[in-house]
Amino acid sequence: MDVVISADQIRGRVDELAAEIRTAYTGRPVTVVGILTGSLVFLADLIRRIDLPLKIGLISASSYPGTATTSGKLTIRDELLPDIVGRDLLLLDDILDTGQTISRLVDHLKIKGAASVRTCVLLRKIGRQTVPFEPDYTGFSIPDRFVIGYGLDFNDEYRHLPFIGVLPDDTTA
Ligand code: 5GP
Ligand code: MG
Repeated sequence: MDVVISADQIRGRVDELAAEIRTAYTGRPVTVVGILTGSLVFLADLIRRIDLPLKIGLISASSYPGTATTSGKLTIRDELLPDIVGRDLLLLDDILDTGQTISRLVDHLKIKGAASVRTCVLLRKIGRQTVPFEPDYTGFSIPDRFVIGYGLDFNDEYRHLPFIGVLPDDTTA
């Protein structure tokens, strides 16, 4: 397996992101909302470095492929969220690819009454976005290859790996 980002590199960058987030939310109670399932490892590491009062919520979104003219259907499940009305939210995802999922979840959370929604992604794929969207915090920008580990799966496996890698028989490169 090729290591793209080592566990040490992830640790260092998560420290930096946590410091930025701590500064931004000092005096402003935040709810950190993780997008299931890929953000779980990132969420667990990040929140333990943010020394502020905070709540945690989870949300899931499953997409079904669209056609050339539609962007597909997104089913959002938000019953694992605490009350978000009037709260400042930090929405976390493992990877920003086309941007469809996270941008639609931001809209959904605002409609549900959040006071503000900022976004943080561990990874951002270069040259893949199909909707205009800028995350507030980005861990690493990476080339367009299918990555696994640190929460990211292939067929629901490999999420527990402590690093980000690509499988040896990867043909998407
Ligand atoms: P988007 O809506 O931005 O296209 O999709 C983002 C979601 O696609 C991520 O949350 C993740 O679940 C999945 N995804 C995109 N690229 C990769 C990748 O390289 N590896 C894995 N494991 N999942 C990916
Ligand atoms: Mg995901």
